[in-house]
Amino acid sequence: MIPAEFEYAAPESIEDAIAVLGEDPEAKLLAGGQSLLPLMKLRLAVPSRLVDLRSVPGLTGIDRQGDGVRIGAMTRHADLQDADELGLIARVAGSIADQQVRNRGTIGGSLAHGDPASDLPALLLAAEGEVTAQGPGGQRTIPAGELFQDYLTTALAPDEVITEVRVPVVDGWGFGYEKFNRRAEDWAMVGVCALVRTSDGTCEDVRIGFTHMGSTPLRATASEAALRGKGLEAEAIADAAEQAAEGTEPPGDLNATADYKRHLARVLTKRALTTAAKG
Ligand SMILES: Cc1cc2nc3c(=O)[nH]c(=O)nc-3n(C[C@H](O)[C@H](O)[C@H](O)COP(=O)(O)OP(=O)(O)OC[C@H]3O[C@@H](n4cnc5c(N)ncnc54)[C@H](O)[C@@H]3O)c2cc1C
Repeated sequence: MIPAEFEYAAPESIEDAIAVLGEDPEAKLLAGGQSLLPLMKLRLAVPSRLVDLRSVPGLTGIDRQGDGVRIGAMTRHADLQDADELGLIARVAGSIADQQVRNRGTIGGSLAHGDPASDLPALLLAAEGEVTAQGPGGQRTIPAGELFQDYLTTALAPDEVITEVRVPVVDGWGFGYEKFNRRAEDWAMVGVCALVRTSDGTCEDVRIGFTHMGSTPLRATASEAALRGKGLEAEAIADAAEQAAEGTEPPGDLNATADYKRHLARVLTKRALTTAAKG
């Protein structure tokens, strides 16, 4: 399919990008184009203008900063995938689609798109990260828990740009990411991201994020509560994983019914926790 006609702008500063968005409420930012362009080709998105972020300086890069990692919004999945020191972030980014998509898609675009089937939103939620958004009134910080509001809906205003993503350093935490799909490189039917901090075989803290178990990424709070403070024997992990689907309302689709997704959530949570518990 061919997209509807649109204007194109390539601003060279973040202020200019925000100004164009302010002038034209139907304009859309363009990052890697890996979600927006397919929607435009299907005419499910018909922006009047694309505001390309690629010429805006300062939006890429990965820096360790104090107690966190700062990732520029235009940093591509491929760059994250190759940064072994990022641990879980690299693992999750490397699971996205195929190399062609990872070479173009960006972390800012993935988080702004707000698709619950995407992998990085569940990671940001589990790691309790945040984004910096810049708009006409300046900058603000949006924690992951407030960013994702509904299906493809975030707390971003139409004239706000994510400039960076901050993920707290989770040194010393074990991690696991389990993604189930029918074909390698497909979207997740369900994905489970687990972080576990252990001390003498006990679970000091645990965070679990779900991909595709609702209209937004979710935390598996019942499983987290069941495991926190407990020993990390296989039985305790299995008990906690049994509660993974509590409170979730996953959408059934062509690949999996809601019940099957709940089953996957339990199985994948057990696997992700088992990997994470090994440190
Ligand atoms: C075949 C295929 C398979 C895929 N499989 C997966 C998968 O398995 N897992 C997965 O997670 N993703 C998958 N994706 C999506 C991919 O990860 C996208 O790269 C990502 O979702 C969007 O990033 P982008 O940079 O391409 O954003 P774009 O498509 O350019 O933009 C997406 C949306 O975000 C807005 N936006 C972009 N950047 C910003 C910003 N900095 N601030 C505010 N708004 C912004 C745009 O206006 C648009 O509305 C797949 C894509 C394709 C084409």
